[in-house]
Amino acid sequence: MSSPHPTSTHGQSTRVALISVHGDPAVEIGAEEAGGQNVYVRQVGEALAHLGWQVDMFTRKAHAQQAEQVQHCSGCRTIRLTAGPTEFVSRDDIFGYLPQFVDEVLGFQRQEAIQYPLVHTNYWLSSWVGMELKKHQPLAQMHTYHSLGAIKYANVPNIPTIATTRLDIEKKCLEAADCIVATSPQEKAHMRSHLSSLGNIQVIPCGTDIDRYGAMTRAEARQKLGIPPDAKVVFYIGRFDPRKGIETLVRAVAQSQFRENDTLHLIIGGGSRPGEKDGLERDRIEGIVQDLDLANHTQFPGRISNDELPYYYAAADVSVVPSHYEPFGLVAIESMASRTPVIASDVGGLQFTVLPNETGLLVPAKDNAGFAQAIDQILADPVLSKQWGLDARKRVETTFSWQGVAQQLSQLYQQHILSITT
Ligand code: UDP
Repeated sequence: MSSPHPTSTHGQSTRVALISVHGDPAVEIGAEEAGGQNVYVRQVGEALAHLGWQVDMFTRKAHAQQAEQVQHCSGCRTIRLTAGPTEFVSRDDIFGYLPQFVDEVLGFQRQEAIQYPLVHTNYWLSSWVGMELKKHQPLAQMHTYHSLGAIKYANVPNIPTIATTRLDIEKKCLEAADCIVATSPQEKAHMRSHLSSLGNIQVIPCGTDIDRYGAMTRAEARQKLGIPPDAKVVFYIGRFDPRKGIETLVRAVAQSQFRENDTLHLIIGGGSRPGEKDGLERDRIEGIVQDLDLANHTQFPGRISNDELPYYYAAADVSVVPSHYEPFGLVAIESMASRTPVIASDVGGLQFTVLPNETGLLVPAKDNAGFAQAIDQILADPVLSKQWGLDARKRVETTFSWQGVAQQLSQLYQQHILSITT
């Protein structure tokens, strides 16, 4: 096939829509359910725009004071549509507002005199929007799940009432979408085993910014953050959600052979502002830190901005991703791009990104003692850890750069647009 060219025969860039009803690509990351999906949509949108696509990213307006449009770069904007109250609504309660969301997308197309030949939907809520839009216009639908209900519900104590609807829509989407974009071979296998043997799936991983991560040395990063050069730094970043397994990390650090050592620093970044839902999990984790007498070793910097995050990864001896499940897990590749090895749960996409004994270690999820042993192995051997960090960086450069990922998506879009227009 000839190389992809996102320009129509009239010389104008082809417009595509990324739909992410609950994961606003323009918000600050780390709080109120904002995480990997928001980062993915924003990075994919911007990278595709750099390749010449006109990208409109649709999301639900979740606060009255939010701008209706945000221009990220030339050719890439976020458009916030009103569907339901303009306030935060948990993803489990959004489904009833989706018909209004579909009407708003159709209204926007009429108003701007455009029609998208392709939509890339994100998470099951948006997949429903894509399938509805398809009833109104010729359209190729790409879909990325970000999370599979069948896996999630097997791992949570309380199953929400929306579960049956979600499971049904996730299956329908796999069978009906023009292409599902799985972000790891493990996620693809789970779709086959848990959803359906029908449907077209292509694996295109998530990416990361290899210029931003890895741009400074550990010494520079520590100086900037005020961390002593001889500190042993264990780093977590992500949402505060019980399924992220932060408790396992804290209990592992409590068992570490370095715990009596004053140089041990545990940094648990991300999360909430007072009054937000994830504050409950943060309070719980802070309680465990107190109970285990680790408060002197532990820092909770809260949400870490895009500008500061590369310093934290670079300053750390090791990043820990103790999730109970991850379809991909962006944090692992961000750390690897920063030359910091990763200890991760041996689950999902983390089995794809982290190569054991090459770029870090994999440990069974929830295995406190296993995580403790892995942390000790890395902290005790700086030479080995440095080598794993360098190899981790190489792996990200070859497999997980946004530019490479966007090229693959661009090619996929081009193929499917051609197939609906010819
Ligand atoms: N993140 C951030 N600041 C924070 C917390 C998280 O920028 O304070 C980002 C993190 O760097 C990563 C994303 O949020 O890009 C989390 O994605 P991941 O796939 O690891 O987890 P998810 O949130 O999708 O479960």
